Amino acid sequence: MIITVHRGSNQIGGSCIELTTGNTRIILDAGQVLPPLNGERRVEAPKLPKVSGLYKGETCSVNAVLFSHYHGDHVGLIEYIHSSIPIYMGKDTAKIMNMTACFISSRGSVLPAGYFVSGQAMQIGDFTITPYLVDHSAYDSYAFVIQADNKCVVYTGDLRMHGKKAKATWFFLKHLPQRVDALLLEGTMMSRKVEPVETEDQIEQRAYEFMLDKSKQVFVMQSAVNIDRLVGMYRAAKRSNRLFVMDIFTANIVAGLGHKIPNPYTFSNVRVFYPYLLTRHMFKEEDRATLMNLFSRYKISREEMGTRQDYCMLIRDTMLSDIQHINNIAGAGLIYSLWGGYLQTERVQRFMRYAEDQQMNVTHLHTSGHADIKTLHKIVQACTPYRIIPIHTEYPEHFINEFDKVQIVQDGEALLLR
Ligand SMILES: [Zn+2]
Ligand SMILES: [Zn+2]
Repeated sequence: MIITVHRGSNQIGGSCIELTTGNTRIILDAGQVLPPLNGERRVEAPKLPKVSGLYKGETCSVNAVLFSHYHGDHVGLIEYIHSSIPIYMGKDTAKIMNMTACFISSRGSVLPAGYFVSGQAMQIGDFTITPYLVDHSAYDSYAFVIQADNKCVVYTGDLRMHGKKAKATWFFLKHLPQRVDALLLEGTMMSRKVEPVETEDQIEQRAYEFMLDKSKQVFVMQSAVNIDRLVGMYRAAKRSNRLFVMDIFTANIVAGLGHKIPNPYTFSNVRVFYPYLLTRHMFKEEDRATLMNLFSRYKISREEMGTRQDYCMLIRDTMLSDIQHINNIAGAGLIYSLWGGYLQTERVQRFMRYAEDQQMNVTHLHTSGHADIKTLHKIVQACTPYRIIPIHTEYPEHFINEFDKVQIVQDGEALLLR
């Protein structure tokens, strides 16, 4: 078996890995490079790693593409992939991607050839692939155990063990095979060794304590598709007797996922806010308007929000003008619950300036979606691999200080497993 890291050997984001046997070629993730933080939205076409037979307009020679999860740095190139190549992902990943496409992006919907079932092996040509659900800030994330040519490769995707699905990562570790020829190990946190990692439960507790002051409303700036965080914020809001307000996009995401995730249909204290620009955009097309009407009876208006303080509302930086039109929000609480790097973007800065003008009480509550160094050691101990290949890291050379048998590869270099 040959492993080629086409991208991701020395950067976070834009991951793309190829595994090849004599007869079969599979690709693990095809992500976009993360946009620079100082700029606004990206306009130019993304840089495609050189992978022959993967893209539209080429003679297709790839047997399958497997996507570990829905973050753009893993799925961002999906629209460039040749339409006759079967793609595979988690069922909830597809749901979230399709709902997001309806609301936000111009990308078409995805139609996978199959969905992952955690712990259940699937066959693609020479490869036997067993996906395992793992804990990450994306809801439906998988790691893979892949066998072919009497070799075994493990790819962690993005994972951690301090979120609300820590047990899933444990299950994956317990089921790692005895013999692993290569472990493709994510090392996002290699650069942040000294930072203590908080659990999602600790974030939830601190959010609850912040929400206890009932004299003012609380806004939470977080990603709508960080479901662990959303669940934590909902629980904090419920314990502090607050109404939980989400926007219409988030409502469609959580209602589409079902399970036990807080949603307007089955949770009595959840209401839905209709952001002005998004609502205008969605009502332009009939099929999209249907998505908007699904929640009209749970709607909370700007006027109502101006008359009460007993709510916790999930927001995004794009909703600034909506927030500006709610009365009586001076001195409100604001939980910034995103990666700190986004504070450098113009849009977030604009929002934070407004919060300052309004003398909002701002607190920062966030934890990483990625494994800390201790967890990386647990993964390595669970499978004692013959070689560890750093991936999804800016510091591959730091692996050498932590582990034996590290094999640093360059983007595009083909590594034959012997
Ligand atoms: Zn990633
Ligand atoms: Zn991720």
